[in-house]
Amino acid sequence: MRYVLDEEKVKAFIKEVKPSKVLVEAPPGLFKPAKRVCELVSVECEISAMPVFGGCLAYEFLEGDAIIHLGHNPYPWWTPKKPTLYLEVPVEVETDVEVVKDKLKGKRVVLGAVVQHLNLLDELKERLRGWGFEPLTFTSKGLKEGQVLGCDYRNLRRGYDDYLIVAGGRFHALGAALYLKRDVLAFDPYSSRVERLDPTKALARRMWLVKEASNTKTVALVDGHEGQARPGLVRALKEMAEKAGMRVRVYKSLILTREFVLNLPEEVVVTLSCPRLALDDFGDVREKVVLAPGEFRAAVLGLDSYAFPF
Ligand code: SF4
Repeated sequence: MRYVLDEEKVKAFIKEVKPSKVLVEAPPGLFKPAKRVCELVSVECEISAMPVFGGCLAYEFLEGDAIIHLGHNPYPWWTPKKPTLYLEVPVEVETDVEVVKDKLKGKRVVLGAVVQHLNLLDELKERLRGWGFEPLTFTSKGLKEGQVLGCDYRNLRRGYDDYLIVAGGRFHALGAALYLKRDVLAFDPYSSRVERLDPTKALARRMWLVKEASNTKTVALVDGHEGQARPGLVRALKEMAEKAGMRVRVYKSLILTREFVLNLPEEVVVTLSCPRLALDDFGDVREKVVLAPGEFRAAVLGLDSYAFPF
């Protein structure tokens, strides 16, 4: 396995922006390339230890007059004001795509991948065509062709026979299954493992939570910072909930801890900052109902159909 760091982009960025101090942000798996970036920049350089879950979190308030952010591309819904270079750092990994062949259902297969594995999609398409499938990838504003984010699955157009999601672990495939409200095939290129994820049980639990929330009197809307600050969505949900007779309080949080969520006085908590928190970090909370924005909207409007993420 090898991470591909575009060193020329780093040099060109420094030449253009001429910062006196650079902050490098990277998820823990990319600290080695982050170190290499600091060697390249020839100005003062620090590696941030703040969590970097997505392109949504480029910390503008931290030191440095420029940011080099590794592992993601720009978040479709936000642009940092501070000069920021996003470097995807694609992964070259030896993987066995053959394992997906007998697991796919139907002919027309939509492919999706996280940005670091988009480089696998061309090979996958070619192999799928060779096996008689019709692979498809789509593009949406702010996303690369075939790209999926934990909170943005617009590239997975509905109505096709099957969906193949390329990402390490199950996180992105699970989000895709909930978004599409159907099963998807998850392919992990690191382990060459495939797994079909059926969201039926998860959907039933989420719909139950949505129903529970529809009768609530008090709601905490937890907004975030940087790209996780969503003022328009906060206003819209607040107005909608108040019209429905709910009392709403807005909170701002950079990192949402369990302790914070459990100590909120409101019965229902909506994680606007990152919709995945409601499912992945607080999906097992019993003391209160924690929802993603789309789920809360469904609760207030009394929708029968599930909506995720926004
Ligand atoms: S899923 Fe959460 S962390 Fe990932 S891009 Fe979306 S808001 Fe950011």
